Amino acid sequence: MASIRDVLNRIDVDLSGPNGSIISVNKELFGFHQSRVPADPEGFETKVSLLEKIRSLQGKHIHLNILRVGHDQYSELDENRLDFAIYRAHEIYAQKNLGIGRVLHFNMNREKFKDYERLGYPTDNEASKRRSKKRAKEKSHELSRKVAIDNDGIDMFVVLKIYGYLGRSPICGPDEYQKEAHGKYGAKKAVIAGFIDRADHTSGKRKKSDLGFARTFSHELGHYLGLHHTCVADNTIFFNHPYNPTTLSPCTAEDRDNLMSQTGPAWEARDSIILTDKQGKKIRKHGIVKNGIPK
Ligand SMILES: [Zn+2]
Repeated sequence: MASIRDVLNRIDVDLSGPNGSIISVNKELFGFHQSRVPADPEGFETKVSLLEKIRSLQGKHIHLNILRVGHDQYSELDENRLDFAIYRAHEIYAQKNLGIGRVLHFNMNREKFKDYERLGYPTDNEASKRRSKKRAKEKSHELSRKVAIDNDGIDMFVVLKIYGYLGRSPICGPDEYQKEAHGKYGAKKAVIAGFIDRADHTSGKRKKSDLGFARTFSHELGHYLGLHHTCVADNTIFFNHPYNPTTLSPCTAEDRDNLMSQTGPAWEARDSIILTDKQGKKIRKHGIVKNGIPK
């Protein structure tokens, strides 16, 4: 069996820290920024398996770059929220044998990136909400053109808030990958924006929104890997969503359990994370998916 050092070398994790030493398996191999397995917001046990992680890298896997906009303002709760989302992404994509490989964090400090900390703006007025949403969309594209990490990972921007959206990601399946890479979005990779939404620190909504954030994080990743929404809610707002092909039908009970159901129709944040075999097949074919490292 490969040593941890071999595994990290094969997924191009840089070991050139002090004395070339591995500082933390939790950080270097699982991508937990806090160097420990994150706590579950509802107190359920969280644990990771080194063996499962290595096995998942021996099969199809993806690498992630987490771009933390306004990282210097993160509290410990925010850090845990983000690490928990990474933890859940491992679990969610393991359902369909897609491993999460290297997870690198990139800090984008508030001073330099303050224009992108919040995408769009708060408003109660309907017309101005539409303008804010358009602005949020433009800004997220601008951000992905401005910053792109030069490696084979998927860039996932985490911003403070996106008004009018929980997250955003272009859909690009294997055929569209090249087009997306050089066309509409300008960068070799796409933006996936989640929100860290620090506003709810002290409210009882925190736990719920930690679970919600984790689901959004994996849901946006699903879009990037080529998945559309599974269904449309019985609600015209959802019918108008750009990721809803016109062939979609209203959500069945089963659809509501799917990761790619929108937040409105989804039953709830913890368990509505199912992927079908067909979806699994599709994501595993995406151009950015890596083949397994040698055993
Ligand atoms: Zn969506």
